[in-house]
Amino acid sequence: MSEEKESLNFIEHIIEEDLRTTHEKSDLCFRFPPEPNGYLHIGHASSICLNFGLGEKYSAPVNLRFDDTNPAKEEQEFVDAIKRDIEWLGFTWAKECYASDYFQQLYDWAVQLIKEGKAYVDSQSSEAIAQQKGTPNTPGTASPYRDRSVEENLELLEKMKNGDVGEGAHVLRAKIDMASPNMLMRDPVMYRVLHKHHHRTGTHWKIFPMYDWTHGESDYIEQVSHSFCTLEFLPHRELYDWFLDQVYDNNKLRPKQREFARRNLSHTVVSKRKLAKLVEEGVVTGWDDPRMPTISGLRRRGYTPDSIKNFADSIGVGKRENLIDVSHLEFNVREDLNKKAPRVMAVLDPVKLVITNYPEGETEWLEAENNPEDESAGNRNIPFSRELFIEREDFQEEANRKFFRLTLDKEVRLKNAYIIKGERVVKDSEGNITEIHCTYDPKSRSGSGTEESMRKVKGTLHWVSVAHAIPAEVRLYDRLFTEPAPDAQKEKDFMEFINPDSLQVITAYVEPSLKDAQPEDSFQFQRLGYFVVDRDSTEDNLVFNRTVALRDSWAKLA
Ligand code: ATP
Ligand code: MG
Repeated sequence: MSEEKESLNFIEHIIEEDLRTTHEKSDLCFRFPPEPNGYLHIGHASSICLNFGLGEKYSAPVNLRFDDTNPAKEEQEFVDAIKRDIEWLGFTWAKECYASDYFQQLYDWAVQLIKEGKAYVDSQSSEAIAQQKGTPNTPGTASPYRDRSVEENLELLEKMKNGDVGEGAHVLRAKIDMASPNMLMRDPVMYRVLHKHHHRTGTHWKIFPMYDWTHGESDYIEQVSHSFCTLEFLPHRELYDWFLDQVYDNNKLRPKQREFARRNLSHTVVSKRKLAKLVEEGVVTGWDDPRMPTISGLRRRGYTPDSIKNFADSIGVGKRENLIDVSHLEFNVREDLNKKAPRVMAVLDPVKLVITNYPEGETEWLEAENNPEDESAGNRNIPFSRELFIEREDFQEEANRKFFRLTLDKEVRLKNAYIIKGERVVKDSEGNITEIHCTYDPKSRSGSGTEESMRKVKGTLHWVSVAHAIPAEVRLYDRLFTEPAPDAQKEKDFMEFINPDSLQVITAYVEPSLKDAQPEDSFQFQRLGYFVVDRDSTEDNLVFNRTVALRDSWAKLA
């Protein structure tokens, strides 16, 4: 028990304290509240894992609430994508809610506030209102419309709602305190007029509630017990509470807002607005481009739900913002795929290897283990013949003693096959190696049980049989930005740090067992990394995305 206590994070401490003092376990209810103005990204995964994780831990409902109060930026496409991503991660929401479902209730409460003298219609421009806000050290100035009569306020709000006035003509403001040290309390705007089509309410509403007016009241309507948001909302908490005070009924549960630190990932940007820019400007092919830090991009890149959840859990929740190195995310996907991904052989940069003492025209089907980490994965047979492709960088004509790959007069093992010895090279007129000739030891076949098969040689190479290999398009992805924190650079826009080499497309040769591989199937290309079948893949043109190399190639550069 005490051990369990020690591992609680500060959010869980808040809940445990509430359970001891004010709340029943059955009171607990959480929500994840995305605005449907883009696709979910890896930062959201932290919030999703936090909220749904608490739901699982306390057997409490977790609502999916779309914070859809800005028709200018929100779309059904994003609603659908968000639902798909959360489902894919493996979480189930209790209710699917929309802030727009509460527009009538919010409006009725706004009318009540006007009647109580706690809200008024301001007819100034937004610039004038901003100017009167004052500074943190100097109080703001009251609007000349602050003391409008209740009747006039009601009449104007009605007109705003019906679309009888243009955008920007009036706003509804809460009448709180123009001298509050918290600038957000200086008569914040509750409603603005927008004559835009909303993806759910159509043209019915001409006024739309602001975030602060909507969020806490939505939590209250849904009886959410704990509303967790990121730290920039800390100063909003006072306003959250003020708005709740106006409608709170003692018999009901009162939601509380608590804040945790945003998680940022290195070499990318985690902001829907910035990601939208990458899409709009064609830097990437879409929200699900495998270079994007979106959930759907990571999915297409070959990340598994477990790898993302393990990543989120391992960085945990905290009170201080920090930049998590992307290598940590990569570590998690390697860990997971190491357990799950079948091993296969593929050659990315081929050079032909001819085994001169192997019979021409013969094919042997050699047994190979699918996954040494998972016995139940079984075995498969791979074809071996006289002409193979090996990786160009696995051969050196003149090598030093530390080169444990193929060179002349030295032996190496071909994975799952025989020991070979380099004999000579064939070059074209420009001196490029076109063929490597070698001989093999017929008694050294892996697993054959002979003395020769147990012989230890330094170095094992992967290979594919030229006659049987399937050409495949392989997309090699790299970091999208060259800077660890592209959006935190002084006087420079994040767009200036785009890595020009974030995608390289090559033709590789893969073993024939991959012929029927389906989109989202992941494999370890032995000695190279993890690769996933892309959804662009067809029967005639296999397409693989490199999820991650076997080792972190950036670590040694740093
Ligand atoms: P963005 O700037 O990308 O649009 P947001 O915070 O405006 O992010 P919302 O759709 O409003 O996006 O966020 C839904 C939930 O996810 C919120 O509770 C928000 O605090 C949380 N969230 C968003 N980004 C992060 C992040 N980087 N780390 C942790 N939580 C995040
Ligand atoms: Mg937002």
